[in-house]
Amino acid sequence: MASRKDRKRGFRELLAVRPGSTVDLATFDAGATFGRAKEDAETDLANVLARLADLQGRLWAEAKHPVLVVVQGIDAAGKDGTIRVIAGAFNPQGTPVTSFKVPSPVELAHDYLWRVHAHVPGKGEIGIFNRSHYEDVLVVRVHELAPEERWRKRYAHIRDFERMLTDEGVTIVKIFLAIDPDEQRERFQERVDDPAKRWKFSFGDLEERKRWGDYRKAFEEMLEETSTEYAPWYVVPANRNWLRNLAVGEILADTLDGLEPAYPPAAEGVEGTKVE
Ligand code: ADP
Repeated sequence: MASRKDRKRGFRELLAVRPGSTVDLATFDAGATFGRAKEDAETDLANVLARLADLQGRLWAEAKHPVLVVVQGIDAAGKDGTIRVIAGAFNPQGTPVTSFKVPSPVELAHDYLWRVHAHVPGKGEIGIFNRSHYEDVLVVRVHELAPEERWRKRYAHIRDFERMLTDEGVTIVKIFLAIDPDEQRERFQERVDDPAKRWKFSFGDLEERKRWGDYRKAFEEMLEETSTEYAPWYVVPANRNWLRNLAVGEILADTLDGLEPAYPPAAEGVEGTKVE
């Protein structure tokens, strides 16, 4: 019962993967609430979304910092829902969302970072990646789409790529949504049962589910190998959508706060001008 203390520490501190640490997702509590109460969630989320809206407005106006948010997680972990809620706070003009699917033949004809680099946000933008270059050490590993000697080198490539981006001024926030196998089963079942969600379900999902253990190993190693001071991973307990939304919102708002985005000064003489 560390609730009051946890609340004070904030999700950024609580959920960051320390560089060099070991990650064990099998024992991770995906239903954790850190002393937060569901009754307060609506107000807390409204507050954090208002903060995000204000910060994004400044960031966009200032046009100084690119911010890249990477969202990863197993099927049905809530990537789409998280992006819908968080990006809902932003002006869409400044917040491009890119979903990375199975690579096209043209993409496959290039190195795996080629398609990714092209979508890295520019100054003032908050670019959100729904899946990312990390698929190239996840699905590629689990399905043996490349030999181990090839994908294993990618941890170092990715660290270097993200180092280059941050050296060039990009702020990187990486969110891993953690659910447990029971929660995934319930969500898949809901997709089958609910006509409005059925389109999201495919039998391939059940095949992937059988590889839960392989994916867990791939996620753990990804988190261990690529969480750095300059581009940290946050492991967000995502069984409860309300806690997930709050945690991601606060992590992002606190990160944006750190950039101290400010509206650019008005041109000389503007203040006090009377518009006829
Ligand atoms: P969603 O992201 O909503 O699940 P899809 O059902 O279209 O969207 O799934 C996208 C698929 O593309 C996923 O199965 C993912 O693993 C796959 N994918 C993404 N990047 C790569 C990649 N680099 N190599 C192979 N498959 C990939």
